[in-house]
Parts: sequence; structure tokens; C-alpha cells
Amino acid sequence: LVAKKNKNHHSKFKIAGIEFGGKLIPIFAGPNMVESRSLILSTAKNVKKIGAQFLRGGAFKPLTFPYRSKKYNETREEGLKWLKEARKKYKIPVITEVMEERFLPIICETSDILQIGSRNMQNFPLLTACARTKKPIMLKRHYGSSLRDWLGAAEYLMVEGNKKILLCERGVSVPHTHRNTSRFLIDLQVVPAAKEITHLPIVVDPSHATFWRPWVPSMTLASIAAGADGIMLEVHPNPTKAAVDPLQPIDFSSFKKLHKEMKAVAKSI
Ligand code: PEP
Repeated sequence: LVAKKNKNHHSKFKIAGIEFGGKLIPIFAGPNMVESRSLILSTAKNVKKIGAQFLRGGAFKPLTFPYRSKKYNETREEGLKWLKEARKKYKIPVITEVMEERFLPIICETSDILQIGSRNMQNFPLLTACARTKKPIMLKRHYGSSLRDWLGAAEYLMVEGNKKILLCERGVSVPHTHRNTSRFLIDLQVVPAAKEITHLPIVVDPSHATFWRPWVPSMTLASIAAGADGIMLEVHPNPTKAAVDPLQPIDFSSFKKLHKEMKAVAKSI
């Protein structure tokens, strides 16, 4: 298996000049959805200034309900244009989700990393198409998937010769999540477990995993202590007004405080 660890080897590679698998713990920060041009420009500016290495945000979204409104709607091609503008203006690389193969050419023009969402983890034709673009890929773990199935999916990417693969833990579905509104439970144990058997870097997304803003800072720090090689965070200028999942993003000042704490924990381990 290509994703399997050989002796003590851990993958180290650069994406857009940022090293993964080394000392730095890169941060992907931004809104859940690319809601508007002004939102993405102001977020790019602020998260970059605070210390994020990548801007995140979905223009194509796997929204839970099919009913659309002006606010609850994907911005698709237009959203990609705004991401591209933010990337250029603030010199911050971008990660965005791919839902369908037919949009790969325009997503590849904008995004430095292709994000494969939890729901598509085992969409094997999509994985193969993404891998063949040779773009770096973040493979989010399906919330019902075992480590074995997750690594099997990563193998679909690697077998195409694509070596720049990031795994991302984003919470698993369990009957007890401690709050009625929480849907997932962060599986921090999967970080050391994955590191025992794969050389690939593991990112943790405490925003999707907790689904609850007050728990994001402590679970971010715990993720770093557990050995995470990167952190994905939802950061929004006005979290309670976020069009999607308004319970989970943190604002700029919380991100600034958390960023300092993240550096301190990283230094201490
Ligand atoms: C996201 O990161 O925007 C997202 C939809 O995450 P997940 O696929 O983990 O639900």
C-alpha cells in the first residue's frame, strides 16, 4: 500500500511553499461557505494577518437540505471568482471543495488544494478524477468511516501517482454527542492511530467536529497535543450571521487569541 508507513518515515512536502509534515502546523481558516465577495475578501485579509497559511471556503457545498434561499445557497462559479480574487489580493493560498468532476478545471484554476468532503470520501470515480489533476488533495474522513476505509480511499488517490495527500479528521457520528445540536464527536485518538500506520500528514477540523463554537478552542489545542499536522478552522467576521452552520465559526478576535495559544502548545510538545 502506498499510504502505508515504512519504518519511521513520515511524509514531508510543500504546498504553495508551505511545508506539511514538518515543524509548522499549517492553519486553514475561513468561512464554511463563500457567501459573498466582501465576506471572502475581509476574511482573507484578517486570517492572513493573524497567521493562517490557507484560506478555506466552499463555493460548491454539500448542503444538508435541498431548499435554497438567497442566503442559504451555493455561490458556485461566482464564489470561485471571489476566492481567486482574495487569493491574489492577499497572497494567501486557497482550499475549496470539489463535489463534481465536471467542475474540476475551474476549481483547479483557483484552488491550491482540492478538498474532498466527508460525504464524498468513498466516491471513487471522483477521487480518481481529482488525483489525476496532480493537485494536492485533502481527504476528509467520512463521519461513519473506519481508519481502514479512510486509508483505502487515500490509496485511490495515491495509486494515481499523487503524493501530496492530506488526511482530515472532522468528527464521527455517534449516538451521544453531549449536546442536542452536536452531530459529531471529535476522534482525536485517530491521530496517533493513523500515524502508526500511514506516513501521510493528518489535519484536524475541530469546527465541523464539535459543531459548537465554545468547544472549538480547547479541541483545537487538544488536536495539536494529539499530534495534528494541520488545523482547519471556521472563521467568520460575524459568526452568528453565517449562512451555514452558524453555531461553529469563531470570529477574528477569538482566532487571534487561539492562534497564540496554538503556538504555545505546539512549542511545548
Ligand atoms: C467543509 O469543510 O466545508 C465541509 C463541508 O466539511 P465536511 O465535508 O467535513 O462536512
